[in-house]
Formats: sequence, structure tokens, C-alpha cells
Amino acid sequence: MNLNYVVEKELSNLLTVSIEEASNEQIYHALLKYVQQQTKKCTTKAAQKKIYYISSEFLIGKMLSNNLINLGLYKAVNNVLAAYNRSLSAIEEVEPEPSLGNGGLGRLAACFLDSIASLDIPGVGVSLNYHYGLFRQKFSNNLQSEQPNPWMEEQSWLRKTDTCYDVKFANFTAKSRLCEIDIVGYDSVRVNKLCLFDIETVNENIVKDGIQFDKTDIEKNLTLFLYPDDSDEAGHLLRIFQQYFMVSNAVSLIFDDMKANGWDLRDLAQHAVVQINDTHPTLVIPELIRRLMENGIKIDEAIEIVKKVVAYTNHTILAEALEKWPHRYLEKVVPHLMDIIDYLDRDIKAKYPNQGVDVIDDSGRVHMAHIAIHYSFSVNGVAALHTEILKNSELKHFSQIYPSRFNNKTNGITFRRWLLETNPELASYLEGLIGPEFKRNAMHLKQLLVHHTDNNVLNKLMEIKAVKKKQFIDFARNNFGVELNPEAIFDVQIKRIHEYKRQQMNALYIVHKYLEVKAGNYPKRPLTFIFGGKAAPAYIIAKDIIHMILCLQELINNDPVVSKHLQVLFVENYNVTVAEKLIPAADVSEQISLASKEASGTGNMKFMLNGAVTLGTMDGANVEIAGLVGPRNIYTFGKDSDVIIDLYATGGYKSSEYYNNNEIIKRAVDFIVSPEMLKVGTESKLRELHHELISKDWFMTLIDFVEYVKAKDQVFIDYEQRERWAKMCLVNIGSSGFFSSDRTIAEYDRDIWKINQQ
Ligand SMILES: *Cc1c(COP(=O)(O)O)cnc(C)c1O
Repeated sequence: MNLNYVVEKELSNLLTVSIEEASNEQIYHALLKYVQQQTKKCTTKAAQKKIYYISSEFLIGKMLSNNLINLGLYKAVNNVLAAYNRSLSAIEEVEPEPSLGNGGLGRLAACFLDSIASLDIPGVGVSLNYHYGLFRQKFSNNLQSEQPNPWMEEQSWLRKTDTCYDVKFANFTAKSRLCEIDIVGYDSVRVNKLCLFDIETVNENIVKDGIQFDKTDIEKNLTLFLYPDDSDEAGHLLRIFQQYFMVSNAVSLIFDDMKANGWDLRDLAQHAVVQINDTHPTLVIPELIRRLMENGIKIDEAIEIVKKVVAYTNHTILAEALEKWPHRYLEKVVPHLMDIIDYLDRDIKAKYPNQGVDVIDDSGRVHMAHIAIHYSFSVNGVAALHTEILKNSELKHFSQIYPSRFNNKTNGITFRRWLLETNPELASYLEGLIGPEFKRNAMHLKQLLVHHTDNNVLNKLMEIKAVKKKQFIDFARNNFGVELNPEAIFDVQIKRIHEYKRQQMNALYIVHKYLEVKAGNYPKRPLTFIFGGKAAPAYIIAKDIIHMILCLQELINNDPVVSKHLQVLFVENYNVTVAEKLIPAADVSEQISLASKEASGTGNMKFMLNGAVTLGTMDGANVEIAGLVGPRNIYTFGKDSDVIIDLYATGGYKSSEYYNNNEIIKRAVDFIVSPEMLKVGTESKLRELHHELISKDWFMTLIDFVEYVKAKDQVFIDYEQRERWAKMCLVNIGSSGFFSSDRTIAEYDRDIWKINQQ
């Protein structure tokens, strides 16, 4: 039977009114039910071995379209809705985006779930069911404020189960409840689960005045927020409570699976792999040891078992992100783990005299990354350069002890979401041109490269870009009340706000351009600078950077002359939904982190796949992008990672020298505290940022600024050679197959998990 017909019938059955008369909410809920029914029909083979991917974040985004694509229903649903003059994208507006993540690390975990299911690998994701997730970002007076971000609804993808576990804490035992979200693989090969644990006694009513709440009331607050403020002791303790709650439940889940299959816990490594996404789930190591001991296994044997089960992914070399919990904090939350942690500490001190690899340092801080490295069988970085930096500098002492434990797994993104869903126009054009094979095997995108001199193809790619820009212009008008210029170049930097990502350098470029326009030097074509991203609530400088950009936005967009040539848009509350609309519309992808600091980046891959050209430093996966597209199809600039690492080692960077010795730098930096800016901004904040840049500038904004200006000016000049530009876009799309998370996951399985590829 014709699929359109079936879908129409099923949908009509699920609706109490006709498709024409139904509201978007009614159609959404009918589709939700329909997808859930279809998902139930997918049979999933029993598993001999499973991957348990534990992550404090899963930034999954909306689920409806992704599920429809993976179930093979996307086209049919679109056709049926179109026949009634309804659009799936309008219906999708109804779906709230789960706010279970913060940035790239959480989005990576979500892409991995999609690929694990799509490669028919048995596995589950494990995390917490944060009711208010990461905060919702609001702008007022050119400042960020934070609000709770509720996302759970009566009818949704999230399903409460009857599975409950006891989680033991120092002064009480928590009752957890398992909630699940189905993860459907592409072509419905397999349905896996995202397991989100909640505490039965959680109480949303304790949140007052933005995102404030009593941080000591653990039974009520445990699963309210992702990354609660940890600038004081209560906040630190809460994070430890959350982490232990997550991993203790994970172990219960694993042991339940073992028991259900009648497997001996001594054979754990034959049936379970635990991949920990960064250090947040590290307590799974002592917890697994403790629980094995509860089951009659001696500590040394338990340790040996755990070492064959746990694998660790490192995501950063930033010191502030490498967790070190004071021993006395852990004692307050999980006293029952302390004998084990102390045992591990003695074990390492006896084996290795080098204090740099200690589990507990001489200030009594427990180094989570060190536990994760010593007591796992695999340590991976997330891009080639990052892994080399780990091995040769950051974790050198460890790689000398365990040379074969270190390996690289360059990150990836799921092409189902970041091409098929976000850019159906491009996907369907590619399918017509090179056939459908790329949807299963992303490397087939290479076939596009043979068309690099075909003007019809090049024109069509530019047409699709124009369509996606127009769609984003509509979105921006409806959501932010701005009118963007379709003729302008869209230059986009969207990611968490952090000094190392250097949004401030981009902002200084805008100042530089503003001053040029004021002096009568106009760009050939209007330039639209688009930003998106949240700053951690306690990260003052990041918030000052947002303030600077919002001030520039007000100043520039309200200037009758300048606004003809320059526009600035800082999208509020950047999330997956916004990324999906913005990335296909981008011409230029800003990936300008200080070399050595961005472990991989995955935004860079999404842009490349959607035909944007990268302007970036030789950092993270940019290095691999540059290798794939070749120097003529990317713009790179700035000092490389060796130079930067050396400067940190010697303390050789002095921002004041750059500021005092270069007129262009001085002029741009001083504009931050100019009368124009002070008129629209908060003086203390602008002065704070200005002072930071010239007196400290820990992430070296000024070291690459002059080169950045030069490279970026060149990008905008080259944009006018439309054929050449289109060819760059084509080469980027055609070379992006390597960055499919299917490739990444196949490598994890081949080298680490050995589940399907034994
Ligand atoms: C991909 C993605 C990120 C990661 O972006 P980077 O540029 O790699 O830091 C962060 N947030 C969202 C919503 C994303 O989709």
C-alpha cells in the first residue's frame, strides 16, 4: 500500500477532527503517538554485550523530525501535511526542546546515540532527568539573565517506568525513578534507550527569582538543574550528589541487565562497556568496585574487572574543567566510597613516585581525571591534534605509563539531523545528483566533487543557500523582530561564550569595521554578523563579552548610515533548534579559538556539511577540515598550538605590548569604553572588559587580531567571486563525509567497545 495513504489514514484515526481543522498542537500530539506506535513495532535483537554511555548531558534537540526520518516516514508525513496545506515545520514549533545539555559535549552524546542505534549496536545512554535543564537565556538592557527552562510535558517522548533504585548517600537514601526516551536508529534497525534518572522527591516549587534555590535541600533539588552554580561549597556538594546519583543508578541498571541474563558479575567485561563522557561520571569507578565487593568479589579482583569495563573520553585541557573534588566534600556525600578511593590512591602512590599522577594530591583534592585514566582501559581525545596534545603535554606522565591506552576518536555529527533534517533542500538535490547512497554512507558525498566545474551544480548550491537564508530571515523576523538583509554575507559564530573561543576577537573586528564605515570606507557588500551562545551564570568575563556584543548590536543597527553596511544579531537562547535554522543559512563559519584550546568542535563540521566556508585557527578538528578540503577551500590564520603552548609555559604573552604597539588594536580595544558604547551599555562592565583585555587577556585575544582582520577582509573580498566561492562550498560539502558520527562510532566500536566489530 502507498505510504502516503497509510500515514494519512493513521493520522486521521488519531485525530478527533480532520487534518484541515486540527490545530498544530493536535497534529503534533497525533504524530507523537503515531511515531511511538511505529517505534514499538521495531524489533530489537537481544544483546550479548552493551555499551553504557554515561554523560551528564544529552543535548538531543527536538525529536519529531529526527524520528520520522529514522523511521522512513518523513517524506510521507510531509506530503500528507502539504496536501492539507499544513507544514511540518509549523507543527514542530509546538515541540519543546529538552534542555538536557549545555554545548558540544552534550550534543556529541546525542549524535552518538543516533549513530549507535543506526549501526545496530546495543546500547543505552545514562543521565539525569533535569526538570529545568540548563537555564533559558534572556536579554534585557544588553545583559544576559537566566530563567528556568522547563521542557517536560504531559504527553512527550519521555516515559516514566516502574524501575526504581535506592541510592545511598551519607545522611539519607534516595529513591530514584527511571524515565526513558526511545532512540530509533536510521532505517529502524534498532531502538535503544536514553535512560534518565529522576529523584522521586524533587520539587520544582523551591525555585525562586530566576534560577535561585536552596542548594542544601538535596531531596528536593537534585534533578532540577544541569550545572547548578558551584561557586560555593553547597554548590560543589550538590554537583557531587548529582554525579553519584547518576552513576549509582547506572550501576544498578547494568547489574539488573546482568542478572536478567543470568550472567556472572565476574564476566562483566564480556557483557558491558561503560564509556564515560568527560570526568563527570568518574565516580562510576569506585561505585562499580564497591558494588562488585557487595557481591562477594575481593577488592583487587573487583578493580581488575572494572579496569576492563570503563573507558574514558577526555574533552578538554582547560584546567578549570578538570574536576578535583576536595576529599572532605566527597566524605560528606559518599562516605561509603572513601575507603575505596583511598585504596586506589595508595595503590597508585605505591606504583608511581611521580606526584603528577596521584589520585589524591597533597592538598587533599581527588583528581577525577586521574582516577579515570588509571582505572580504565581506554583514554581517548576527540580530535587528532587534541589527542596529540594530551599525549605529549597535558597528560604526558600518563601516556608514558600507559602508551597503548591513549587513542584518538575524532568527533562527528549525525548527518540525519544536520543534513537530512536541517537542510532537506540540499539533501534532496544531492540525492538527485549523486544518488541516495550518501544517506547510509556519508563518504559517498565525495561523488559531489566531480561536479566542481559544473556551473549548473554551482548555481544550484548558491540557490539553495539563498533559500535557507530567506528561511532564517523569516525566523529572525518572527522571533527576534529584526529584518536581515538577504544580500548580506552571513558571518556566524554560535557556541558557548568562552574567552578561549574568542567571541571578543570577532567583536573587535566588528568595531574595526564600524570605525571604517564611519570614516567612509564601505564594504563591497553588506555584512551581517550573527552570534549565539550562553555564558555560564558565574562567568563574569563571558557575560561582559555578551554585553559588549549586545551594545554593538544596538549601536550599529540603530545607526542609519552604518546599518546599511553592517548588521549585528545576537540570537537569544541559542540551542539545537536555533542551530538547525541558522547553520544552513551561514556563509562564513567562525571557528577562531585560541590554538590548542578547542578540543575538537563539532559546530565547525555542521557548517562545513551545509556549505559554509570556515574562517578558523589551526585548532581542534579545524586542522582535519583543512586537511580534507585543502588550503584553497578554507581560511586559516593565527599562531599554531605549539607556539601557544610554549607561550603558556614561559609566560611570554603580554597583551599590553600588543595593545601599546599597534594602532589598529588600540583603537578597537579603546572603543569598548568610548562615549558611543557607554551611552548604550553599563559603564562598569565595559570598563571591566577593557581592563581585562589590556592587563591580562589569559586567552590571548590580541595575539591573532591583526592576522584575523586580514584573513576576514580577504574572505569578504573573495565572496564576490561567486563561482569560486560556490566551488569552495561544494568542496566543503563533498569532503565532509569523514565527520559523520557513524564513522566515529564505528571506530569506537572497532577499537574500544568491540560489540559488533569483535
Ligand atoms: C553543535 C552544537 C554545539 C557545539 O558547537 P561548537 O562550535 O563545536 O562549540 C553547541 N551547542 C549547540 C546547540 C550545538 O548544536
